[in-house]
Order: sequence, then C-alpha cells, then structure tokens
Amino acid sequence: MRISVLGIMALVLLAWARPAIAEPSSPPPPHPRILEAAQAPRAARILSRVPLAYAPLMSQAQRRRDFLEKIELAKGLLGVRRLVEIRKETLAMIPPGMEVSWEYLRGCRWPGGDRVGVTLSVPVWVPAGARKVQSFCAFEKKWQSVAQTPSRPSGYVWFSPNLADINNKAGYRAETIQFEVNSKFAPLVGLLLEYIFREGYYDPPQRLPLMAVRGAEDTYAVSARTAPVVAECLSFPDNESDCLAAGVARCRYNNLAEIYHGHHAPASNHRLGLAFDLNDFNYPGVVDGAPNPVSHSLRQFNRDAMHKLDARQIPGWVYQAAKSLGLRIPQEWTYEGYNTDWEHLDVGTK
Ligand SMILES: [Zn+2]
Repeated sequence: MRISVLGIMALVLLAWARPAIAEPSSPPPPHPRILEAAQAPRAARILSRVPLAYAPLMSQAQRRRDFLEKIELAKGLLGVRRLVEIRKETLAMIPPGMEVSWEYLRGCRWPGGDRVGVTLSVPVWVPAGARKVQSFCAFEKKWQSVAQTPSRPSGYVWFSPNLADINNKAGYRAETIQFEVNSKFAPLVGLLLEYIFREGYYDPPQRLPLMAVRGAEDTYAVSARTAPVVAECLSFPDNESDCLAAGVARCRYNNLAEIYHGHHAPASNHRLGLAFDLNDFNYPGVVDGAPNPVSHSLRQFNRDAMHKLDARQIPGWVYQAAKSLGLRIPQEWTYEGYNTDWEHLDVGTK
C-alpha cells in the first residue's frame, strides 16, 4: 500500500514536471486575429471561419489534412486561386508615377470596404526569459531614421540573448506576436503561422521560436534608445561552404535597433503587405551568422541541421507547409538569379 502511494506521488510529480503537451485538458491557445477587425470586417470574418482544430491527440497526418482543408476554405472565401492575383490587385491601387509605399497603401480600401493595412496577432513559441520589444515603421530611406526619430508603432518582436534558452524547447512558453499585413493576405498568413505554432503544441521537439515576423513595411526598426545588449549567435568558418562547424559568438550591440531593422526596395512584396520574413535578425560581426537574412552558403540548404544548431533557423517542414499554401519559398529564388533570402515568403511576382 505504501509503495503504491509513493508510486502515485511519483506519477503526479512526473506529470507536473513534464512540458505542456496537447492533452484534452490543456486549453487551446488563441487563434490568429486582426486587431482592427472593425476596419476590415470581411477579412476578420474569413479568419474566424478557418481556425485550426485542437482536437485531443491529433496525429501529424490529421493536422496536415486539417491545414490543407482550411487553406482551401480560406482561398474560396477570399476568392483567390493563385496568390499572385492579390499582388496585381494591390498594385492597381497605386496612382501612376507614385513610388509604391506601405504607408500609402495601408490606408486604402478594398472594394467592399476592408482597409488594406491591418495588424495580425498570432500565437508563437518564445524561449524562456524572452522579452517583448516594440517595433516602428515609416516611409524612410534609412532604417536609422526610423530607429532614432519617433515613428509609427507597428507591432513587436521578441528578444532572447542566450542560445541555451533559444535551443531549450521544453522551456518555451506560448505567446503572441503582432505585425502588419495586407488584409486580403491576412487569413492565409494566419493559417501558416498557426500551423507552425500547432506543430509545437502537439510535439514539443517540433517547436520553432518565432521572435520576429516582418510583414508589411517600407522601412522598419526598433528604437535605438535601448540599453546596450550582449546577444549570442552562431559564426561559421566561411560564407560559402556546407561546413556546419559553428562557434557561438557573444556580441555586444549599442542598442537593439542594430539587431532589429530593415529597408525594402520599392519592388518588394513587403511594401504591398504580401510578404513576411520569419526570424530575420541582423548580427553584425559574425560570419554567415544564424539566422541570417541573406546567405550564399551551401549549408543553408541543410535546413534541419541548421535548425538543430540554432532553433531560430527555419526547418524544412515549414517551407513545405508554406509551399502547400501557394507561397513563393526562398529555394525558388535561386532559379531567378537573385540572392537567396532564406526567411522570406511571399505571393510571388508572376
Ligand atoms: Zn523579406
């Protein structure tokens, strides 16, 4: 009798210590939502009609089938077959001769009344100790202008300084991230990011920490008026090979804007709200650092090995999911002769 009581106590302790997994009793996380639902009621309604399921003990195959079904449903409700159609429709709103800018487009209206620019809130995993940092947008030529002068808030990113925390998936917590996007694209982006979250909900080793999602913007940065930080990232022996012998670099930056910033070319789908980058950071001072927005190295094709070294790297299954949604994925860019931009997903151009 005494032994069985001890056994029960051990089981209770084990259950308590185990990381959260999808048990029937665990509450489902919030679904993706548009913050300005009253400004884009049609898109908000479509988003609310395609929530991913959180049934008890869903298998990977069931989750994938649910994802594919919701994609079809969302595309039908949006009246979109190929995603590039949204690009053509959005470009048609720009007056002839005007430089394409998100700051202009976000205030435009779709036929039917939805505002083009909305803020999407989605569930994400973040490492233990990660902290939230406000981000800003403006129609500026340099990110430094956005970082140093008061600009329009446009969502937030997460900052986590230690690679040990970043790679400790059992220690992650469920949070949300917010970024801007074209309202006609929002239900589809929401589906992909919720799918990424849900995989980690059912299967903790699959967790991907999404700490920066750069969506619709011309130029963006966090404020340069933050304290200096020390952050860890990987540094590789070269910029070209498939060598995975990375060392952990501890880099000191004057402020967080040195890590979180960006400027998009006028032709970029970001300016139309039809592109998004996952975990796009800048770590000056490292070689092909991880994750790195633009890389020519062969190691970038070894996605799962890169993800094991630094969990912020995007594993292969995410790109497969993105492709099944109809997005253009980075691997396609190599056929167009451009630099490979590894976290960039968009509606394509043709
Ligand atoms: Zn991009």
